[in-house]
Amino acid sequence: MTLIVQKYGGTSVGTIDKIKNVAKKILAAQAAGQQVIAVVSAMGQSTDALIAKIKKLSPVCDPREYDALLSVGENESAALLAQAIIAQGGRAVSLTGWQAGIRTEDNHNKCKIIDVDAQRIKRELRAGKIVIVTGFQGLNSRGDVTTIGRGGSDTSAVVIAAALQAEVCEIYTDVDGVYTTDPRLLPEARLLSAISHEEMLELASLGAGVMHPRAVECAKVNNMTIAVKHSHKAGKGTLITMAGEKLNTVSGVAADDDVAKIGLLHVPDVPGMAAELFGALAGAKINVDVIVQSIHEEARKNDISFTVSNDDYARALELTEAKARGWDGCRVAGDTDVAKVSVVGIGMASAPGVAARMFAALGREKINIQMISTSEIKISCIIEKKELKRAVKSIHGEFGLDKC
Ligand code: ADP
Ligand code: ASP
Ligand code: MG
Repeated sequence: MTLIVQKYGGTSVGTIDKIKNVAKKILAAQAAGQQVIAVVSAMGQSTDALIAKIKKLSPVCDPREYDALLSVGENESAALLAQAIIAQGGRAVSLTGWQAGIRTEDNHNKCKIIDVDAQRIKRELRAGKIVIVTGFQGLNSRGDVTTIGRGGSDTSAVVIAAALQAEVCEIYTDVDGVYTTDPRLLPEARLLSAISHEEMLELASLGAGVMHPRAVECAKVNNMTIAVKHSHKAGKGTLITMAGEKLNTVSGVAADDDVAKIGLLHVPDVPGMAAELFGALAGAKINVDVIVQSIHEEARKNDISFTVSNDDYARALELTEAKARGWDGCRVAGDTDVAKVSVVGIGMASAPGVAARMFAALGREKINIQMISTSEIKISCIIEKKELKRAVKSIHGEFGLDKC
């Protein structure tokens, strides 16, 4: 008997009818001789609804209580799915993160999973049950419920699959697999039959919401294959594996509108300033993404610009303004009207001219590039938010991603 882990996202379990369908699918896998662990997200937009409720009480919430509330969404869908399986004649048990032995770091809201004590899951599997585990949550060393970041159920599934050495981890979602870009943004996006862990990790980190970046990271470390498929349609989907489709110069385009820009202008050009600013941001656990420093020729001054996620924007702006007050002549400018467009491809490491082609595609559309950041396998540009769709279309066409 092979063991598989299946993960069903929010839209896949968004209604009772969809939950019944998922139950049928899981029972079919069991009937085909597989032991199944299913990891579930909260139903539809229910996590958003929980956030909206708690934010009515306070815009800045107590992190522990925030997690205690947000974990409720997954508890609901897991119990309903187990009940749906039982109602269809199967044997199932739902386990919350702590019952499933998922241990996390002590901090709240975006913490990492440390390990899985899989004794209970194994016991239930041995008893012949289908095990339904809540995604997105775990327990810290203080015995408190934690959550692991938006979209984190993918990571719960991969971590459990790795801990139990499952044959494969299947991610069931509301699209047919991983496309060359978000198919909801660009209808001509092409479904990829396979993609490497490395490229998927880069795409996910750059905003391709189809996979949680930490899930891909965990799969890569454990050399585990992930299959991304549609939850209610047949199809082969996309395999995320050690080797991808082929060594494309560009495999995909990622769009991210969860970006805000902060500029610190007229910073004295002396050692230690950047360390002080970014040290303060790091101390507040704010993830900084693109950083650009430009020099004023005449007066030993610099401008430092950087981007953060929208969630971190208010706090980052506050901290940057506090620093600027201590530095003579310094001022701060914030901009939430920006977005990031990126190209990713392992082949670009050995193919010159990718950046030039990307910039030309943006130039043709008269889209201004505000910031640029590169690595061996990606190039990102910060642009105006309203230009994002046009930018993706132009770059996607430039690299012929719509053609096989
Ligand atoms: P789930 O609730 O199943 O976790 P998500 O909303 O988190 O689903 O992820 C699926 C969505 O990811 C799709 O509906 C699609 O709009 C978006 N997406 C972004 N980039 C891509 C991509 N490159 N390929 C496929 N889907 C993508
Ligand atoms: N329910 C959580 C969210 O909406 C986790 C997930 O869906 O993966 O972010
Ligand atoms: Mg998701």
